[in-house]
Amino acid sequence: MIDLRKLKFHLILSAGVIALAACEDKGAGPVPEEFGEDGPETPGADADTDTDTDVDDTPPDPPEPELPAFELPHFPPGDLIDGSSRTKGDTGYTEPDVAAPFMRFPIERGPAFLNSQILHPGGGGYASGQWPPVPGAENDVANYSYPWRDNFCEVRFKSNGLCDGDQGHHGQDIRPATCDNGVLWAVAPERVKVRNIGSTHLVNLYGLDSGLLYTMLHMDRPLAPGVVNGAVLEPGSRIGKISNISGGSTAACPSARCTSVHLHFEIWHGAAETGGFSQKGVGPLSPYTSLVESYLDLVEEAPDGEDWSSPIAPPASSSVCRTP
Ligand SMILES: [Zn+2]
Repeated sequence: MIDLRKLKFHLILSAGVIALAACEDKGAGPVPEEFGEDGPETPGADADTDTDTDVDDTPPDPPEPELPAFELPHFPPGDLIDGSSRTKGDTGYTEPDVAAPFMRFPIERGPAFLNSQILHPGGGGYASGQWPPVPGAENDVANYSYPWRDNFCEVRFKSNGLCDGDQGHHGQDIRPATCDNGVLWAVAPERVKVRNIGSTHLVNLYGLDSGLLYTMLHMDRPLAPGVVNGAVLEPGSRIGKISNISGGSTAACPSARCTSVHLHFEIWHGAAETGGFSQKGVGPLSPYTSLVESYLDLVEEAPDGEDWSSPIAPPASSSVCRTP
């Protein structure tokens, strides 16, 4: 499960920590190599004349312990659950490119867990048992644990040229930190204009800086105040609460548990080129790597006393979680 992208990212993070430490403690910092161990000579200074005996013996404060960078446990992009692709393989979109490197993680607060909804406990499988369901309930700890797993290109009978068999899931499914319905907020991934609000659970957002198009599914109704067609929203603005609403009759949810409680998140390219705000774009991109990168930023911003880097205990009561 070694991921070179992740490794590279953490090398960058480590370098950042080292650079920061050097800035805060310039006097004790490493001496540039060209001056040798003693450092540059100071004109007029004479070390032998320093006979000052008034030495401060107070030991220096111990250095603040350095917090280790959060290492997000996650499978590489495109590493799907065995047999879960349209061709019954385990390969999705494996390229490490990041579609939206500037993106804000699209859930307001952590932790969050990327994994399959249909092929994890509480999911219903797919295509009348051709991809059988996994026994268990939605509040299974496996659903609220790391490592994350890509499910862009997981089996769906939807056209997707980036997937084996040219069919697959158009987005990435993200579980918020609860399977309680309609509790946690999905938020704008960048400065966006609300493009389309579906009649049941869909919201499309046009990225005003990127020209990308974001689709969010399973948004509870009503949406956040101010989320109306044409509204311009800043990154991190609330869009809607994450629910189990899917297509069909919303009145039947949550008693019928239309889907698991999750945010389905898509990134489409080509909207700007094909007409901007009014267009959805020419095809979906894998959101997985963009979510990995933006989540590392989110975890850094956890309020004092909260740890978004750990798995959670989901609600114990199956009454609030889906059991097919
Ligand atoms: Zn989905």
